Amino acid sequence: MNRHYQHLVNKLEEITHLNGVMSTIGWDQEVMLPAGAAEARAMQISALAGVIHERMTDPQLGDCLAELTNSGMDAFNEFERCNIREALRSYELETKVPKRLVQELAELGSRGHGVWVAARQDNKFSDFAPVIKRFLDLKQEWAQCVSPELSAYDANIDLFERGTTMATITPIFERLKQELIPLIHAIQAHAVQPDTSFLQGHFARDKQEALARQISRDIGFDFDQGRMDVSVHPFCGGSHPTDVRITTRYKDSNFVESLYAVIHETGHALYEQGRPHALGDLPVSESLTMGIHESQSLFWERMIAQSKPFCQHYFETIRAAFPDNLQHASVDSFYRAINTCKPDFIRVEADEVTYPLHIILRYEIEKGLFDGSMRVDDLPEIWNELMMKYLGIQPPNDALGVLQDSHWSGGAFGYFPSYTLGAMYACQFYNTLLREQPDTEKHISNGHFAPIKQWLNEKIHRQGRLYTPQELVQLVTGEALNPDHFIGHLKHKYSEIYGLTSV
Ligand code: ZN
Repeated sequence: MNRHYQHLVNKLEEITHLNGVMSTIGWDQEVMLPAGAAEARAMQISALAGVIHERMTDPQLGDCLAELTNSGMDAFNEFERCNIREALRSYELETKVPKRLVQELAELGSRGHGVWVAARQDNKFSDFAPVIKRFLDLKQEWAQCVSPELSAYDANIDLFERGTTMATITPIFERLKQELIPLIHAIQAHAVQPDTSFLQGHFARDKQEALARQISRDIGFDFDQGRMDVSVHPFCGGSHPTDVRITTRYKDSNFVESLYAVIHETGHALYEQGRPHALGDLPVSESLTMGIHESQSLFWERMIAQSKPFCQHYFETIRAAFPDNLQHASVDSFYRAINTCKPDFIRVEADEVTYPLHIILRYEIEKGLFDGSMRVDDLPEIWNELMMKYLGIQPPNDALGVLQDSHWSGGAFGYFPSYTLGAMYACQFYNTLLREQPDTEKHISNGHFAPIKQWLNEKIHRQGRLYTPQELVQLVTGEALNPDHFIGHLKHKYSEIYGLTSV
């Protein structure tokens, strides 16, 4: 093997292993850490972040990459080329930004979080506004350093969903608005809301946990190479495809939330466990982007677990876990109850029809802030106007409006579109699966999930980073991202649930 390439592999594997340690202590912080150890842990994380940054910006790594790219890439196979390309991308992201800017972004990110928590508590946007203003300046400067050829907002989107720009997103989001706003109106106007009373009550935590573990295992989570624990916010972490850790939280009054959080995180976990790590702990074997990751969680949560065949398979199991609550429910009433559509203020609690409008609102605000057509000080009014326009409701205060998300407090601008891109990818992947394996719904109603997981493993998980998201979607589904799949799915499903004839 090429001497420089071997050198690169050694350096990249070391960085991957250090990142694995970082991820483990991050998980530990969310799940296990005694409250008194927070400060010590912050110092440990900061020290390790420094080491990783040093490794990633090591001039020897830069020399090595220069040797490899100058020597012509033809000598390498597609996996090796991917490693070189990915290493170059992250080396440039790390080294093109002056140290002063890196430090100021990190400092503002950690201070911003505290400012946001307090502002939300006091319901006072003006306390948080200066953080957003400073971030916008820093993020414009950052974009100029890393991707001077892109507009500042596009450069920020590219960090989470590479290759995707406003030119792609805007027309797709316009279509979604055109189709979903009338659908939501029709649902609101026509229908009696499904009965959800049997989803309220008391649900023993041990029963909730046993059910969640069973379903997670059934759909393919490998507990020999993973764990499930409890944290304040559900997430999927871990250090390696052989060590994938999901979390959830339990509410005594609501088992659906916890169960579906587990299914969502299991979707992320199956992607992680399915990564091609036999190729080495290298960039080529990593997951692709935020949007593709979210497509995998939403595939299981929305396309599979909120479907009728899934309810048919699990309803009796669920009723057996909570016999008092669900004694008068049926497969059909359960299916309807977990698929209610109702505009509400909070994004993370939104159903699959209204969710995209929460995202579009944030996207339009971020776009307006970056191109200067919106002012930070006006955000509470802009937010409320858009909520009224898109969902027909007015948040009673900013805590339930513009202050609800943590993303901007850490400088994550350009992240929100990934959620809805993920939902659209998930639906397009699912339609392709139905075309290629017409028995899929029958399999789901029999609890036979292995063929579905195998299909995702083969088509998506094992591709690692060989392709861009756009190439992957084209390769798997035979077409570019096409919102018709998602729109068609929502219209069909919710027309049936709500008995609509006009949409
Ligand atoms: Zn997710």
